[in-house]
Amino acid sequence: MSIVVVGSVAYDSVETPYGTRERILGGSATYFSTSASNFTGVRLVAVVGRDFNEEDRNFLQGRGVGLEGLVVEEGETFHWKGRYEGDMNEAQTLDTRLNVFERFSPQLPQAYRSLPTLFLANIDPELQLQVLDQMERPQLTAMDTMNFWIEGKRDALLKLLPKIDVLLINDAEARSLAGESNTVRAARVIREQMGPKRVVVKRGEFGVMVCSPDGFFVAPAFPLETVVDPTGAGDTFAGGFIGSLDRDGTLDEASIRRAAVYGTVMASFTVEDFSLDRLKRLERSEIEGRYEAYLAATRI
Ligand code: AMP
Repeated sequence: MSIVVVGSVAYDSVETPYGTRERILGGSATYFSTSASNFTGVRLVAVVGRDFNEEDRNFLQGRGVGLEGLVVEEGETFHWKGRYEGDMNEAQTLDTRLNVFERFSPQLPQAYRSLPTLFLANIDPELQLQVLDQMERPQLTAMDTMNFWIEGKRDALLKLLPKIDVLLINDAEARSLAGESNTVRAARVIREQMGPKRVVVKRGEFGVMVCSPDGFFVAPAFPLETVVDPTGAGDTFAGGFIGSLDRDGTLDEASIRRAAVYGTVMASFTVEDFSLDRLKRLERSEIEGRYEAYLAATRI
């Protein structure tokens, strides 16, 4: 099986209590692809500027990520600047420069259109709609979004949601989208009134909640004493979650639960270092080792 992912490929400038980094590799699609490539084939659709490094391209290629849909345009790569303080559960966005994304009109390579799984990572929901329309008959369509779009492109988002099998969203964004102050109620309102079949709410160090037609599944985060940089945790979770579902090829409850644990495990690695540094040196055996440790820590 294989996943098409469309989202941002970025250079990020990040400040956390553990240090400051300028123009490090980031982006929703970058974290997603790197994480999902541990489970299944991934084809990336995005745009970068002329400043995009050969080294970063080679890294993605080396993971087996298909780059036929990675377009290079005149101009600069998307840039996000953020800061984490205190418990580091929420990023404070200091600056968002869309740059080449401002004029981006994604065109899926012909061979990608018939693939079974689509992940619409965090980008403008109008672009997400444009991509979804180009797919022939995906069996699983999932998406992520953020406040920037919930506030700025609500209509496009509401048009997209009924076409989605799995919406991944963080807790504050779920409350803002639903207009509810309780996260559990917000997830239910989104699922029942806005149309996605399942809602996965990411709650930072408190883990995730999967809201399905049959009820809830909750999974705590993997306990870590040190979180160096939470950037990309949500996208890395999504990569593990959707990657595992695509590999299983079913959406039954056991697969959903296994996927939630793989997503949690992948996210726990990302936050141990800046950018994709921890994922770059991650061995498959470490993923399985932490998966087993997680099961042992949550079993009654
Ligand atoms: P997260 O998994 O939510 O921590 O995602 C972090 C990544 O999202 C960063 O590497 C950013 O480059 C990217 N990002 C931040 N803001 C946006 C935005 N408005 N649209 C697309 N990607 C974004």
